[in-house]
Amino acid sequence: MRLIYETHSAEETKKVGRHLAEKAAPGMVYTLVGDLGAGKTEFAQGFAEGLGVTEPVVSPTFTIIQEYYTGRIPLYHFDVYRIGDPGELEMIGYDDYIDGNGVCLIEWANLVEEILPERRIDITIDRDMEKGPDYRRIEVKEVQG
Ligand code: ADP
Ligand code: MG
Repeated sequence: MRLIYETHSAEETKKVGRHLAEKAAPGMVYTLVGDLGAGKTEFAQGFAEGLGVTEPVVSPTFTIIQEYYTGRIPLYHFDVYRIGDPGELEMIGYDDYIDGNGVCLIEWANLVEEILPERRIDITIDRDMEKGPDYRRIEVKEVQG
């Protein structure tokens, strides 16, 4: 499965997140890759809404992980931008989250590539300045390992 979405506002990117969340099932892992300001957290906010999460979703840059339990499946939202190496992530219980019954959404997953599960959904968000500052191309790709 490979899908491409093109969005022209943060709200549209959230909508893509909401839409994809409808197909999320326990144990699924989603990676989010894109530059600073690409829209990873906007997407995550929409995704959380789509799961029915009621509390506001904030960027877990300083906490690395935020857990949300008010949706139909637990959501584990990671932002690994500030970790030094994958071992640091393993120390905070990464494997338990990955093998757990929630859905994992990992911002900056490219920084911990070595420890990503083989089965996952990779989401890449790119800008294209020729198409304007609010344009984003979102690629969603199922990886089977
Ligand atoms: P990241 O988590 O990738 O660093 P954020 O989601 O925190 O990025 O920020 C994205 C920024 O880009 C927000 O300020 C948002 O309003 C803006 N933006 C503009 N157009 C879009 C778009 N099409 N999709 C997502 N965000 C957009
Ligand atoms: Mg972010």
